[in-house]
Amino acid sequence: MHYIGIDLGGTSIKGAVVTEGGTILKEASCPTQRELGPEHVAREIAGLITALAEGYDPQAIGGVGVGCPGIVEDHSGIVRYSANLHWENFDLRAAVQKYSGYTVRLANDANAAALGEVVAGCAQNVDSAVILTLGTGVGSGVVLNGKILTGCTGGAAELGHMVVEDGGALCACGRKGCFETYASATGLIRMAKEAMAQHPESLLHATAAEVGDVNGQTIFRAKEQGDPTAVAVVERYIHYLSVGIANVINCFYPEVVALSGGIANQGEALLAPLREAVAPQVYGNQYLQTHTRILGCTLGYHAGIIGAAMLPTAL
Ligand SMILES: [Zn+2]
Repeated sequence: MHYIGIDLGGTSIKGAVVTEGGTILKEASCPTQRELGPEHVAREIAGLITALAEGYDPQAIGGVGVGCPGIVEDHSGIVRYSANLHWENFDLRAAVQKYSGYTVRLANDANAAALGEVVAGCAQNVDSAVILTLGTGVGSGVVLNGKILTGCTGGAAELGHMVVEDGGALCACGRKGCFETYASATGLIRMAKEAMAQHPESLLHATAAEVGDVNGQTIFRAKEQGDPTAVAVVERYIHYLSVGIANVINCFYPEVVALSGGIANQGEALLAPLREAVAPQVYGNQYLQTHTRILGCTLGYHAGIIGAAMLPTAL
């Protein structure tokens, strides 16, 4: 049996025909013309589904899943709120079904991506995993016993908005000190800029002036060269990341916590000190025989598409 997965983003709609094992057979994408309104976007999604299904026996398509940013209810089919798409209370399922003729299952895009990594990526053959995407914000998805944790509204697993520093940096959500304000790439860059202002003599400052900007790569490079300012910034970043991840482990004790997004590309330079910082914060750590593995994700943007395709089987 094959499935069609759609990953709806603010700038593009990506889709694929995927086997039940999570292998991509055929891919397609188109721009998201969100300025033309949700009905138009639903028609674009339906067009993509039709194009992907072409050449396949309709009986061989086991279902269609759509991952969408925001608070997405599979039980009602309604996208309650999506900041990226500027949608409120849009019946996405009804619209896509009307234009495509296929029954559609829905999930939040980060939740779908987490499922993708469990089906075919870094958390393959694992029952429980938490995936964190360290980008502009912190995206997250929780898979328990092979199923996406949705909560009663589809809004569950917004781990980026747990507070790790009460009274800390103001988050876009209105709270202060959210995990995302410290553990995102944006948070790392803010902390680096604060440190650079205090240490204009640092290598970090000189590198940033030379490159014209500061980003995750320049920060980690200056740290590897032994610049004390960059070392302190990375240590502070890893501290907050470890607090959030230890909280996540204490809540779910998943087999895997995996990181994706630009900062995760640092690989072991990030993961090795992170594991060391997380371990003492895990409840009962010294008594347990099994420990959560902290890994890098492997599927990139394909995670969202593969996970969406698996929604008909994993919701
Ligand atoms: Zn927040």
